[in-house]
Amino acid sequence: MKELDKEEFKKQVVDYMKVLYFRTVEEATQQQLFQAVSYAIKDYIVDQWMETHKRCEEEDAKRVYYLSMEFLMGRALGNIILNLKGNKEIREALDELGIDLNAIEDQEPDPALGNGGLGRLAACFLDSLATLNYPAYGCGIRYKYGMFKQKIEDGYQIEAPDNWLKEGYPFEIRREEYAVEVKFGGHIAIHRDETGREIFTQEDYQSVRAVPYDLPIVGYNNGFVNTLRIWDAEAIDNFNLDSFDKGDYHKAVEQQNLARTICEVLYPNDNHYAGKELRLKQQYFFVSASVQKAVLKYMKRHDDIHKLYEKVCFQLNDTHPTVAVAELMRILMDDYRLSWEEAWEITNKTCAYTNHTIMSEALEKWPLELFSRLLPRIYQIVEEINRRFIIQIQEKYPGDFSKIEKMAIVYDGQVRMANLAIVSGFSVNGVANLHTEILKHQQLKEFYDMMPEKFNNKTNGITQRRFLLHGNPLLADWVTNKIGDDWITNLTHINELAIYADDEKCQKEFMNIKYQNKLRLAEYIKKHNGIEVDPRSIFDVQVKRLHEYKRQLLNILHIMHLYNELKKNPTMDFYPRTFIFGAKASAGYRRAKAIIKLINSVADVINNDTSIGGKIKVVFIENYRVSNAEIIFAAADVSEQISTASKEASGTGNMKFMLNGAITLGTMDGANVEIVEEVGAENAFIFGLSSDEVIQYEQNGGYNPKEIYNIDQDIRTVLTQLVNGTYSPENPELFREIYNSLLEDNGGERADQYFILKDFRSYEEAQKRVGEAYKNQAGWAKSAILNVAKSGKFSSDRTIEEYVRDIWHLDKITIER
Ligand SMILES: *Cc1c(COP(=O)(O)O)cnc(C)c1O
Repeated sequence: MKELDKEEFKKQVVDYMKVLYFRTVEEATQQQLFQAVSYAIKDYIVDQWMETHKRCEEEDAKRVYYLSMEFLMGRALGNIILNLKGNKEIREALDELGIDLNAIEDQEPDPALGNGGLGRLAACFLDSLATLNYPAYGCGIRYKYGMFKQKIEDGYQIEAPDNWLKEGYPFEIRREEYAVEVKFGGHIAIHRDETGREIFTQEDYQSVRAVPYDLPIVGYNNGFVNTLRIWDAEAIDNFNLDSFDKGDYHKAVEQQNLARTICEVLYPNDNHYAGKELRLKQQYFFVSASVQKAVLKYMKRHDDIHKLYEKVCFQLNDTHPTVAVAELMRILMDDYRLSWEEAWEITNKTCAYTNHTIMSEALEKWPLELFSRLLPRIYQIVEEINRRFIIQIQEKYPGDFSKIEKMAIVYDGQVRMANLAIVSGFSVNGVANLHTEILKHQQLKEFYDMMPEKFNNKTNGITQRRFLLHGNPLLADWVTNKIGDDWITNLTHINELAIYADDEKCQKEFMNIKYQNKLRLAEYIKKHNGIEVDPRSIFDVQVKRLHEYKRQLLNILHIMHLYNELKKNPTMDFYPRTFIFGAKASAGYRRAKAIIKLINSVADVINNDTSIGGKIKVVFIENYRVSNAEIIFAAADVSEQISTASKEASGTGNMKFMLNGAITLGTMDGANVEIVEEVGAENAFIFGLSSDEVIQYEQNGGYNPKEIYNIDQDIRTVLTQLVNGTYSPENPELFREIYNSLLEDNGGERADQYFILKDFRSYEEAQKRVGEAYKNQAGWAKSAILNVAKSGKFSSDRTIEEYVRDIWHLDKITIER
């Protein structure tokens, strides 16, 4: 295997500069340097990549195919350099060439092929799989435009296209030879073969060619490189006038258009189902290509298709790829001529489903008309799965139609994807203990009663390589100095830090590192927002997708209240705060966008009011994404995790903050519960309704926020300020919709359905505790260090080991070095 050699590496950078740009290193732009360095790095990776592939073939290794509509990868270059452990040589080589690694890292676009937590989880899982030597493919879509770029203009979110491929992405490799065909529409013809068996063929269909692009996923210091395979769509035949002559002109144009549109853009919805036809096309497109390819690969080396599950597992990241179960049935029955029973058994043993949410607006339910028109053969198979399942329900619960109503796959004119995934696979997992318990006993109770053996929990995790080693080098070095570097590949070791939590010198060192990271973020804010923030103030941070259940509104209403208090009593006991937000709202989510505008309007008023002496600053960081997230987590004192209890399935942002020594201010929701279990309630600020209480209220039709409004003067004042022009003098009605959402029922939507007013006072009281605690710097440092020390459970390495043990059953493949 090729070793990293400094001189050779320098020569390669110079050579690529010549070949790609006809330039010398001295003449090059930063973007050209980024490209040339990336190509030089890729040279090293490709050897390891091929070697990994060869070893997996030699061992005939089982692989997991992680099927996901989203992979929120973040930048590759810096991460790959770290994982190659070539950091030192490469940095030296670049230094000697006069290249600034940080500057060229900044040239890389974030491949943002995901919305938020779900896509970032997929990316963390790939990192852990490679680092732990497990053979895996990530399978997804090569969107031409990833998550939009967010600009803030006059306080409003403006979406700009994210043309991440514009300059060419140096790490991808097009694999023309692995292209497959994917068919849509038409109708199903039935023939009989010589044995009298029915043969189903799709006719008059439109099809596209799925062409894979492979991206390397480099394990940490183990020579192991997995593949993220993202599919692009191309027209089957280049447009030719022959078709016109044959009268197929229309079809030829349609196929061209289909190919052009499928991979055009990532849908920017997070936890929300929109029911768009193109979205279903995207789903079937990448799933069909991935499943076809996996079966072909298996059959190249094996002759018994019945044992597919011994070498292949499909993990469905949410319901988005659920058509995989029917696609596999189709391939097994129509291409390999297996019986229904044989195909069903194989499918059942090969597919597993991860549930990511209990929120009803996120449940995928495709209209029958659309589903059957677009995927006629798949629909037949889904109908048959449903028919047989309903017989099973009736056998178990004779005469109980409520069970059918709840569990049927095809019902009321819709195909219910979660039900299909649960029935067709062998595993259903939630993503944090609380979430899995809610699935078992509330949301999916009927399924759990019928098939309890399928249900299991896999609490999410994050990769410490990106979110500490790469994102926070100062703290990473400090940790390594104290306890050695085992934590990089085994985060449980980080617990050894706990003995330093009480050590005064260590507390000071820790607080100084936090201060340096706050300075770094303050510079970023100065540069991007033009706002001066005080790095000695408390950095209180809420960064995540903008969603009502995540309750950014609770945060900003509380800031409005604090500001009122400070105005009333300028000398009141108050530790200065910098409130930092970062959030993209789905382009069509009106209320979320109104909340962004509100945050910016409040920021404008407060930041410019000299009478409060700069004690509160509010900053909205534009275009929150993986690359600036790394800087933000490192600088946070307080981690805002304030979702309405029961609504946040897990959260992973909470874990990244903890790993970086921020203290959680949160509800008992998702993985917050487990964070508190690990670190102790005395090292977190917990408030609000419990999930049981929220669910209780919901089952009783909600609560009445007007009662709170009527008795609580401060809350009334804050709400009135939403509609009296305090923050929008040019248009006092601007925030009327937000105001109404808190106080009035609206159609099917209850007043304050996320319990913001209900939790307000409890949140305020927790914020007071934050201020008190921060005055004691030693005590704060102790809590923060303990948060780092107790974060071991939240490594995605742990999560992956659990998936392997309980679901995937993979073997580690080692690479000779
Ligand atoms: C981790 C992460 C998320 C998920 O954050 P939550 O707080 O768990 O919702 C979203 N976006 C980015 C860029 C992330 O890194």
